[in-house]
Formats: sequence, C-alpha cells, structure tokens
Amino acid sequence: MELYKSISRIVAIALFAMSLVVVTMAVPRSGAPDPALAWSVRLKDAGLNVVTVEGKVLGRTGRKFTFFAVETESGGRIEPIGMEAFAPDGRPFGITATPEGWEVACGGDDFTIRYDVVMTIEDRYSPEVRGMLSHLGADRSRLMGKDLFVQPAHLVAGGVLVDIDLHEGDRIGSPWETVGTRMIVPSVTELPMTFVATGGYRFLEMSVSGVRLVLAIGGKWSFGDDELLETVRSIVSEEIAMFGSSPRDRHLVICDHNPVRGGRRFDYYGVHFGGTILLFLDPAIDRSELYGAPMSIIAHEFFHNWNGEALRPADDSFMWFTEGATVYFSYRVLLRAGIINDLQYDAAESAIIGRCRENALRGSVHLSMAGNSDLSNREMVNLLYDGGFVAAHAIDERISSLTGGSSGLIDVIRRLYRENPDGREIGTGDLNAAILAEIGADLSIFIEELLADPLPVSFADVSS
Ligand SMILES: [Zn+2]
Repeated sequence: MELYKSISRIVAIALFAMSLVVVTMAVPRSGAPDPALAWSVRLKDAGLNVVTVEGKVLGRTGRKFTFFAVETESGGRIEPIGMEAFAPDGRPFGITATPEGWEVACGGDDFTIRYDVVMTIEDRYSPEVRGMLSHLGADRSRLMGKDLFVQPAHLVAGGVLVDIDLHEGDRIGSPWETVGTRMIVPSVTELPMTFVATGGYRFLEMSVSGVRLVLAIGGKWSFGDDELLETVRSIVSEEIAMFGSSPRDRHLVICDHNPVRGGRRFDYYGVHFGGTILLFLDPAIDRSELYGAPMSIIAHEFFHNWNGEALRPADDSFMWFTEGATVYFSYRVLLRAGIINDLQYDAAESAIIGRCRENALRGSVHLSMAGNSDLSNREMVNLLYDGGFVAAHAIDERISSLTGGSSGLIDVIRRLYRENPDGREIGTGDLNAAILAEIGADLSIFIEELLADPLPVSFADVSS
C-alpha cells in the first residue's frame, strides 16, 4: 500500500513534470515573441517632395502580415506609391491590396516593406492645412507618423525604431528618446501621432520638474530662442505643479512659421498631439506679442495633457469641459506664471464672458450638444469654448465658496487624474462624482443648469 502510494505519487509527479514540460514547450508556439518593427525614412526627390519609407519586420511574422492606413481627422489616408516587399535575400513577396490595407505574403519569414510617399505642399490657405501637418522643407522638416507610416495590424514587440535621414547633420527632436537620428517610439500605437523635427531646427533641451522639454525652433524671430524656452518652461512648470506629476516624461514643442498664406490668413495656430505641441506663428510677430496668443496656445495645449489626454472625454457631450476648463485654467496659468498681469487676465475673461453673453445659440443649444454639432459654425464653436469657460468658472467659484476657498475645480480635476491611472474615458457623471468626493456636495443640478445656459440672468447680474 505504501509502495503503491509512493509509485502513484512518483507517477503523478512525473505526469505533472511532463505536463510542465509540455506547457513550457508550448509557450514558444502560442506565446511567441511578437515581431519587431523598424522604420527608416530617407529623401528620394526633394523637388517633388517624395520620401522613401522602408520597414523591416523581424521575428515571428505568421504566413501573412497586414498593414493598414491610419485615417486622418479629415478622413484622408496616406497613399503609398510602388509598395513592394522582399525577403532578406531579395526574394520578392506578393502584396495584396484589401479594403483594410495591404497583405504581405511573407510565409513566416522576415521581410522588408518599401514604398514612396509624396508629402503635400502646404503653403496655401486651405482647410487641409490642419489635416496635413507634416512639412518637407529644403532646410528643415517636421514629420507626423500618420503621414508616413502604414500601421501593422499585428502586435509588435516592444518599441518601434525610426531612423530619419532627410537633411545633413545628425540631430532630431522627438517626444520620445532619441539616439542620433534614431527615435525609439515605445509602442506602435503611439507612432501615428508622433512628430519628429529634423534638419535646420535649433534644438534646445531642459528638465522641468522631472520632465524633459525639447524645443525645436525654425526660422528667424523677433524673440530669442532662450526667451521662448524660458517662457514655455514657466508654463510647463506651473501646470506640472498643479497636478503634481505629468502623464508624459518628455515633450516636444515645435515653433515654426505659420504655413498658412492668403487673404484670410490667421496669424497663429497651435495644436497638440500626444507629447508634441506645434506652434505656428506669423514670422512678422512682434517680440511683445509672444506673451499673448502664442503663450496662451502653449498653456492651453499643455493643459490638455491632463484634461483631454489623461482624462479623455467619453464622447463629444463632455467637450464643453475638456475645452472650457482648459481655456479657463490656461489663462490662470499665464497669470500665475507672470506672463500676463491682472489687467490682461481680467480683459481676457470679460472678453470671453461678453462673447458668450452675445452668443445667439446660448440658452437654445445645450452645452453638451455643442461638441457634436456642426463645428464649422463659428457661433457653435464659440458656444462650446466660451460657454465651457463660463461654466468651468462658475463651478470653480461655487466649489471655492462652499469650501471657504480651501478647494477649487483644479482639486477636482487633480483627483480625477490621480484616480484614473488607466486613462479611462470620463463624462459629466464622473465630474459630478469627483466633486461630491472632493467637497461632499452634489453640484449635479447646478452643473445641469449651467449646461442649459451658462449665463442665466442671475449669473449675468452677479458677474456684471
Ligand atoms: Zn483645446
């Protein structure tokens, strides 16, 4: 009996051990390391604005490997020209175009994919300027991932390496770690929204509150590079202090001449994608003007790192908060950083409140509907931003008065940010819950009334 027990135990252990071996052996088959991807970009024809993009796919690729084109906000997609794929020994692999993208019949082998892309010339006034932010210049270029790279439909191991070879010299600026002209993008999903600046940009770098700030400045300006760096630094420092930490440890700010020309040109334009802020200014801007609109763009776009990116709106019905609270706090940041004074702050605030009061849609369009309405309608855009500003302002003041000044709306946003490490999308319900948690009061009815009309008669009377 004892012996039988021992034997059965040994058999059991042996079977268990075998199953371990089987499991261990099975791991490389089912859980094989994902293939690795490395891109390179080089100039093909400067006159025609053509670049050649080449991607190496290494590791376990499967019998077929699929790429797709990332759709841009304006609905466009990149159009690769002359796409080809081949094995390390030069053997060509077939590529099938499908409705989803391109299928490479690589038979499980490593392969290289290569194609050309025409970079659109953007020196003209057109709405597409906002959709095509990459620019290939004789002296310097800025590239956005989605304008260059097709995206793998498969998981890719670790980071994606991107080598840039477009201009003389060996420097690039990127929101990710760089080594020479190589950028290491930590995840393939980050690549479409990643910018890189290369060529004749002047690169300035510094650490602010543990965050690496990289400035790429192109062209001549009435202000000094150091002056721009110091001003941006003071904004970044102020905003990181508001939250205690930054969702990203590296940021790229590209400052360049506004590409938009023509009779109805606008003088400045700023936009923010992931870790990059683009600041396009009128080349003729006066030095003193740097502290106005351009810095409000930086303060606004940088604030979106938290309110907009770490705290993504669940849908367009929460855009009033994403934009409104961002406008509201960006002016306060400029005030606190000493970039604008009290008079300038008051002037900016009354301009926004005044425009909101005059808005023809106010009171008839609910703020939660403004974000998914026709945003080519200027009044609707103004309602969203100005109404959102006024609502954020009112919520901030209500929280402050209920807590004797010990809490404000920023404490609520910080709470939302800290309690949302996974980047879950949020909406008005989350805002209401965070206010309740922060101050023990339910402001949901107050907020609902603000969304119906951010400037009801009573508020307009009080604030005038
Ligand atoms: Zn915004």
